[in-house]
Amino acid sequence: MFYKIIKFRPNLRRRTNFGENPRDSKWLKHRLQEFKNRYFPDLTISNNLIIKFGRPTKTRLGSIKHGRRRDNPNTIITINGHFQDQQIPDFVIDATIMHELTHYAQGWFSPHPQKYRHPHLGSVVKNELTERGLDDILILSRRWLKKNWRDYIRKYH
Ligand SMILES: [Zn+2]
Repeated sequence: MFYKIIKFRPNLRRRTNFGENPRDSKWLKHRLQEFKNRYFPDLTISNNLIIKFGRPTKTRLGSIKHGRRRDNPNTIITINGHFQDQQIPDFVIDATIMHELTHYAQGWFSPHPQKYRHPHLGSVVKNELTERGLDDILILSRRWLKKNWRDYIRKYH
């Protein structure tokens, strides 16, 4: 019998000091569930949908991809690790989660049929979020990021 020994290298780019009550994946999952029920009640989640914090990045707020399994692959939504920090307002994370969930609903990395030929062309994400009543959150998030993100990254990245 062979054993493969895997040594995990510490990820030096991963922040660990998020102050009191850092957000965790359980919090993230709860957030996704609540928003999905409120704004996407018609959307069927027909595979495993996983949401987690990834590494902190400067530019990428969130992403969506498939897991490794070929048959009925999982969908993995990854949220910028910096967002574990309570200094980032909830609405920034909510807007990010809803952006990625829209990709899911429109058939990107999900079992749903692809609704458009390109995930972002023609503001298809923004339009869907607006139609679903998420405009306020989007505006708040964009405004906050524009005003604060650069300074935040300079201080904490
Ligand atoms: Zn996108």
